[in-house]
Amino acid sequence: MKPADIKAALQEAAKELNIDKIGFAAADPFDELKERLRKHRKAGYESGFEEPDLEKRTDPQKSLPGARSIIAIALAYPTKMDNAPVSKPGAYRGVFCRASWGEDYHHVLKRKLEALRRKLVEWVPDAKAEIMVDTGALSDRAVAERAGIGWSGKNTSIITPEFGSRVYLGEMLTDVYLPPDQPIENACGECTACLDACPTGALVGPGQLNSQACLAYLTQTKGFLAEEYRDKLGNFLYGFETCQAVCPYNRGKNFTHHPEFQPEAENVKPLLKPLLHMSNRQFRQRFGSMAGSWRGKKPIQRNAIIALGRYRDRTAVPDLVRLLEEDPRPVIRGTAAWALGRIGGGEAAEALNRAQEVEPDEQVAVEIEHAIEMCRMRETADHRTYREA
Ligand code: SF4
Repeated sequence: MKPADIKAALQEAAKELNIDKIGFAAADPFDELKERLRKHRKAGYESGFEEPDLEKRTDPQKSLPGARSIIAIALAYPTKMDNAPVSKPGAYRGVFCRASWGEDYHHVLKRKLEALRRKLVEWVPDAKAEIMVDTGALSDRAVAERAGIGWSGKNTSIITPEFGSRVYLGEMLTDVYLPPDQPIENACGECTACLDACPTGALVGPGQLNSQACLAYLTQTKGFLAEEYRDKLGNFLYGFETCQAVCPYNRGKNFTHHPEFQPEAENVKPLLKPLLHMSNRQFRQRFGSMAGSWRGKKPIQRNAIIALGRYRDRTAVPDLVRLLEEDPRPVIRGTAAWALGRIGGGEAAEALNRAQEVEPDEQVAVEIEHAIEMCRMRETADHRTYREA
């Protein structure tokens, strides 16, 4: 078959596979990206989750020697949930970002790309191919941009004219030559909505993200979350999406044609308190098939504790006291102390005072001291309000 015919056949196969967009790019090195990544690293903006070898990240030959083309795909995901459960006093809920709704997209996209690979091998039996979804060496976004899937927005997401930026990306490197597509023009124009809305200033410039300040990344870390970010997290348990929510290209978009990405309402908006004492097994059984579970239960529990503190949920005090007194993980004890400080009240203050006597971890001890101070300030403020009334 001629390259143009293989490309047309792959485009046809993509339609049959319910793939929303497919694009083709040359497997040339991403030289301009390499330069940007160097600066990014120098500025300390990396998340730590990315492939450390810049050569691998920018040279397709390192992943597949002899690579000539990259086939990029995109699948749109939903943004709205039917009958979403709502938080109520004493029964507050957290939320997983939309990119974690339904089945883990890594699996879904890999299956689709595997099916495309099988088609390719039917037509070119000795074709070599390497599939990547998010965790591969190459940048999915740089590939998608070159393949004409969308443009790279100021919020660093790929924005497709048809589906906005709520798309999952994946790609297949191959040694088969396929005629490339053209990148599409950046249409952000004068808009700066995402830069203006980012609550932590993580978007340090158009298309420039300081991952160390990005709440989406911070929800996935396992250590203490710096206090300056705790109030800004809202009730997010995994991910954060303000920079996408405000983007005009996402307005009114909700694509529900992939059954795999339909959310299980009770899992993507779970009650917070039951999360606090889940075993690893219970966590895996309930959340293990979601993309947001990849770091395990600890970050989710830490974020749930922060949300309870922010809600000032007094009914959560006994659970938080139990964590403060019994949990073996310093991050969980320290964050529980902070939440108790935010909620305040006699029971919280007494538990914090007791914990102060016995806490062996230095950082947790600092959190406890700070929480006791928060309780005092709250008590004084409540007392003043009472007298004024
Ligand atoms: Fe571009 Fe505006 Fe969307 Fe940001 S919010 S990515 S500037 S269109």
